[in-house]
Amino acid sequence: MKCIVCGNNDAYKFGLCTDCLSDKIKLKTSKMEITECPKCGSIKINKKWYYNNIEGVVKKQATANISADNSSSIRIINYSMNDKKMNIDLIVDDKNLGEIKKETDMDIKLIDESCPVCNRVTGSYYEAIIQLRTFTTEYDDILNSARDSIVSYIKSLNKNNPNSFISRIEKKKEGLDIFLGRKEDAVKIDKNLEDVYFMNLKITKSLAGRKDGKDMFRYTHLIRILDLLKGSIIYDKNYYMVKSISSNNIELLSVDRKGTVNLNSKNFFRKPFSVIYKLPVMEKFIVLSSDSGETQIMNSENFNIMSIKGKFENKEIVLYKYNGNYFNI
Ligand SMILES: [Zn+2]
Ligand SMILES: [Zn+2]
Repeated sequence: MKCIVCGNNDAYKFGLCTDCLSDKIKLKTSKMEITECPKCGSIKINKKWYYNNIEGVVKKQATANISADNSSSIRIINYSMNDKKMNIDLIVDDKNLGEIKKETDMDIKLIDESCPVCNRVTGSYYEAIIQLRTFTTEYDDILNSARDSIVSYIKSLNKNNPNSFISRIEKKKEGLDIFLGRKEDAVKIDKNLEDVYFMNLKITKSLAGRKDGKDMFRYTHLIRILDLLKGSIIYDKNYYMVKSISSNNIELLSVDRKGTVNLNSKNFFRKPFSVIYKLPVMEKFIVLSSDSGETQIMNSENFNIMSIKGKFENKEIVLYKYNGNYFNI
């Protein structure tokens, strides 16, 4: 059956085609003002800035600017806009005709204004600094991996809180300074790093000024990450070889073979250890034979043969060398 009004299209409802049904709905729109941040795309409506679900906020506001006689609800499906007009696809629930699709243009006034968050970022605002340093005080690649995890963590926080951001990262000879928009994020970063690295943390605060009659503080989190390796040699009254490092324990072998020492980071960083060799000396050996707890091995570089205590499953082993002695750690 053809439409009873236009006679061209197939009838859809009440003998009318969808076009003619749509014509029966008269919409009224009023001009809408939207403020948009040109840097991040967040929007301001009625003096409040919205950083998330911008599409939903715009739809809601636009809906409030559209009315139709005899309708119980208006629902915006899609919109697109330039700085003067907004083109809207919507569904009007008409009390007599039911749900009818419509398309309309609405006048808008788009204002560019930098949002408070972008103002903070570009103004190098910060509340806390993470100072990433190493135990040996020399720059080490371990700082780069710590930085990468901090950057991706702050990015994930930023999705829910626009005030979580890194305003800048300064690379120094001895480490990295990471400037954070929120002091609370620095505390979370400390926890994350402590789970991964054997490290020491020191927090200091300094007066940054006054705001609304209150003292404003900036917090510096000095993080020293242990950058030693298995086989590194350190000294504090005795010489020690590093056997293993985890986030909460370091195992040290006294090279005078007086057994091993386990220290947590608190006790380790309290002691005045000095670094003798950071880079371990390692040599490869081929296992020749093994009996009654003694194993014959041959140096794969100079073919010297020697015997050491213990049994080995592997055909090739690595021993750590210090002061002419070999250590199986
Ligand atoms: Zn028609
Ligand atoms: Zn912005």
